[in-house]
Amino acid sequence: MRTSVVLLTRDLRVHDNPALAAACTADRVVPLYVLDPKLANLSPNRSRFLHQSLADLRGELRGRGGDLVVRTGDPVAEAIRVARETGAETIGAAADVSGYARRREGRLRDECEQHRIGFGLFPGVTVVEPGTVRPGGGGESYRVFSPYHRAWAAATWRQQAATPERITLPDGIEPGQLPAIPDGESPHAAEGGESIGKRRLAAWLRQIQGYEDAHNDMPGDGTSRLSPYLRWGCLSPLTVAEAAKSQDAGAFVRQLCWRDFYYQVTNVFPKLSTEAYRSSGDRDWRYDYDALEHWQDGLTGVPVVDAGMRQLRAEGWMHNRARLITAAFLTKHLGVDWRLGVKWFFRWLLDGDVPNNSGNWQWVAGTGNDTRPYRRFNPIRQALRFDPEGVYVRRYVPELKGVDGAAVHQPWRLPDPVRRGLDYPAPLESHRDEAVWLRP
Ligand code: FAD
Repeated sequence: MRTSVVLLTRDLRVHDNPALAAACTADRVVPLYVLDPKLANLSPNRSRFLHQSLADLRGELRGRGGDLVVRTGDPVAEAIRVARETGAETIGAAADVSGYARRREGRLRDECEQHRIGFGLFPGVTVVEPGTVRPGGGGESYRVFSPYHRAWAAATWRQQAATPERITLPDGIEPGQLPAIPDGESPHAAEGGESIGKRRLAAWLRQIQGYEDAHNDMPGDGTSRLSPYLRWGCLSPLTVAEAAKSQDAGAFVRQLCWRDFYYQVTNVFPKLSTEAYRSSGDRDWRYDYDALEHWQDGLTGVPVVDAGMRQLRAEGWMHNRARLITAAFLTKHLGVDWRLGVKWFFRWLLDGDVPNNSGNWQWVAGTGNDTRPYRRFNPIRQALRFDPEGVYVRRYVPELKGVDGAAVHQPWRLPDPVRRGLDYPAPLESHRDEAVWLRP
């Protein structure tokens, strides 16, 4: 009788889960999740989403005769303990790229060797595994997106893994309790779980054709909002990419490629959250904590920036265009160190992860993979183009509800009595000397 343990991390699903499918070739399987105290307090929003996803996964596994075995502690020690208790021959897990995940994998490999337990890493966190497409000339990863995209699109994608039909736990194993779902910080955050993720994907596929035209329309909200489900592996990125590809939704598939791009960058540069990717990228950043606080609170006095920052707090998610505008405002206009932005987004975002959060921040700050690192985003021009009627701003900045149309983007231009009647701040002192660019 063969027994396998599969250590689930951010692949919280039963469909297309290669590590789980491989474990299920054994007679007995332990689908294990270890609540790691070191990761517990990074983000209340993500903790809530995680626990919702775990509860859903437990339901899926129970429906197949199995269960989710839950432990708390060091994932490596717990996985070894469970394997020894059940006499398991192998432990498998999905390969990941962050420094923390890589160290965990390394320790697990060593411990397995010591205990004579087989160890295997499986794909599943990206569409194309980091490191499998490489640039010519011996480079380990692509530094620029376009050639990566060409290679990625031309690569052979793996076969999707079969969803297990039945799962049998080893006799006598105690499944363990899932703690109560913790409170998040954002009142309008999406709910986690594979079931809800699959429903959202099905609904999204019915409107995916409009993506190319709608994805920058801030009030239209015409993007998939699947990012938290991809982040936690409630949805398989390969399943999503293949479904989109079968509908010729190239613009959407390209965005999934951006996700993979930053994974293959992080795979060779795991310090992406703390160190500039381009060695000469960092400049003399400012540490203006007063300006930072105004930015965090959505009180910079630049309405489109404030709307984005308030959407982040309300929903634990922000439209991509707003992420670009708010991140550029912090780094290129206020001159504040991008690492402080990374931290703030990482606290709130349901989809927050090292490769995509830090990779995108570095792209915007000009320290990362942008081929035009000195590009500037004029927030007013962006607002007039992508929120021409001011609908997005008024949705998140109620103080400006009474201002009609595009005038909402430049309240400092309103006639004095109107402006003074608004309970809304003037643009931050620290960037007023940039008044020139405030003109579109
Ligand atoms: P859609 O437009 O529907 O795109 C589909 C999927 O493609 C997304 O779910 C996502 O997985 C991927 N994708 C889209 N755009 C990007 C991109 N620029 N980079 C990488 N992948 C992308 N995305 C995260 O998943 N986690 C983060 O922590 C994160 N932080 C960001 C920080 C900044 C400063 C910026 C500018 C962007 C960040 N993004 C991050 C990328 C992007 O904003 C989000 O993936 C996207 O807004 C999610 O919404 P959606 O699912 O509706 O995207």
